Amino acid sequence: MFSGLIIEAAYFLAALLFIYGLKRMASPVTARSGIVVAGWGMVLAVAAAFLYGLDVNERAEPRLVVNFVLVIVALALGIGWAWRSGKKVAMTDMPQMVALYNGMGGGAAAAIAATELFSGNAQAHGLVVTVLAVLGGLIGSVALSGSLVAWAKLDGRMNGTIRLPAQQIINAGLFFAALAIGAAIVAAGLAGGGVPMLLIALFFVVALVLGVMLTTPIGGADMPVVISLYNAFTGLAVAFEGFVLQNPAMIIAGTVVGSAGTLLTLMMAKAMNRPVSNVIFSQFGETGDGDDSEIEGSMKSAEASDAAIAMYYASKVIIVPGYGLAVAQAQHKLYEFVKLLQKQGVDVRFAIHPVAGRMPGHMNVLLAEAGVPYDIIYDLEDINEEFTLADVAIVLGANDVVNPAARTKKSSPIYGMPILNVDYAQQAYVVKRGQGKGYSGVENELFYAENTSMVYGDAQKVMAQMIEAVKSLG
Ligand code: NDP
Repeated sequence: MFSGLIIEAAYFLAALLFIYGLKRMASPVTARSGIVVAGWGMVLAVAAAFLYGLDVNERAEPRLVVNFVLVIVALALGIGWAWRSGKKVAMTDMPQMVALYNGMGGGAAAAIAATELFSGNAQAHGLVVTVLAVLGGLIGSVALSGSLVAWAKLDGRMNGTIRLPAQQIINAGLFFAALAIGAAIVAAGLAGGGVPMLLIALFFVVALVLGVMLTTPIGGADMPVVISLYNAFTGLAVAFEGFVLQNPAMIIAGTVVGSAGTLLTLMMAKAMNRPVSNVIFSQFGETGDGDDSEIEGSMKSAEASDAAIAMYYASKVIIVPGYGLAVAQAQHKLYEFVKLLQKQGVDVRFAIHPVAGRMPGHMNVLLAEAGVPYDIIYDLEDINEEFTLADVAIVLGANDVVNPAARTKKSSPIYGMPILNVDYAQQAYVVKRGQGKGYSGVENELFYAENTSMVYGDAQKVMAQMIEAVKSLG
């Protein structure tokens, strides 16, 4: 009884810590401490789960029989692996790590569903618990296999998109097959005769295949929406399985992740100008393979020093960072250069596209790491009008997010995505290493525009040259 009260109190406190931690993550200033707070919530929730296992004999109806040795071995392995990979992961590899861990969450929820269905625990607790176990199992399995495919794509282990003929029909068929088998499991469980193991196994196989089939056709610029959608799926699956296990910490953590993931999906879909219905019903990447044939003009190159001098004598400069800035780790040099411009009285602003980089908020994290003050960092909708007033716009390792084809070229895979209006500035400079395309694999008209000059080179080296050039002036 006493430990029961402690467990309830610990779960409640863990839930408060999750929510407070999430609130602190809303601002880059407090985000780091928010993660620590939520982490302590998780430690508390895990400790409470142990107490729950110890308390099991006091329960009229024990739901959880814990094999402590196995649990401790699993925890040690999981913590050890996560600690090591978390310590050594490069900033540019973060997105695939997030996709992988997200998949693990979905997989854990699906594993709980499998255990509860195979053991008959869920069925013994009636209709609602069985339905929730089945739904959580379906969503968790899709999140697991889908996230693994997303991880393979982001990690460069799987290239391009694989689209079967009648892909949508196959996907719909798999989805309805999973629902039908799930319904059969619920019906057999309620009838009391026991559910055939084969049926449950088939259910999970179909759900896992569905996750793979939903994700393999996705390519181009739609990846961020997919990752955040699977994040929402994982949260939902964990919350459902929390109901099955009657574990409040899982219900709350799952609901928080599910709703945050859903909100993020809606915001990403808005940023990509895709209706969420289009995303949910898996029209991903169906916008064509890009048509680079009609680009006119030629690319002009400029020296880093020419671009630096142009910015030094400008009154307004807008900087557009992209994935290449993260690859080059040029953020510190960039800020050093910005401070030199500011000293000269230049109004310098950063323009952040919502899907720049390879994960939501990637550029904000990068700039925060270099110490760039938040009041010169602007979101797309707050700065896009200002490009016409800029003397110079400089693009550092960005490509898709400044591609004017998104406005005009219906056949382009990025058509409809709002872009940063770099082409409206008086003069544009683009820093990149060579002719490499962006994530969506299409050519960029901006590079051929009359008022654009290309500065070829690794962003960090180019920034070092720009700093030298400006220092030599004064
Ligand atoms: P892009 O991937 O479109 O372009 C990056 C550019 O950086 C390349 O053209 C490359 O050209 C250049 N580059 C690479 N390394 C360097 C370097 N060391 N120095 C200088 N330049 C370099 O990046 P964006 O940020 O513009 O767009 C993001 C894309 O990623 C969008 O399509 C988005 O949908 C997608 N995406 C976003 C996610 C998110 O959550 N933000 C998640 C998954 C995908 P070159 O090789 O010639 O140097």
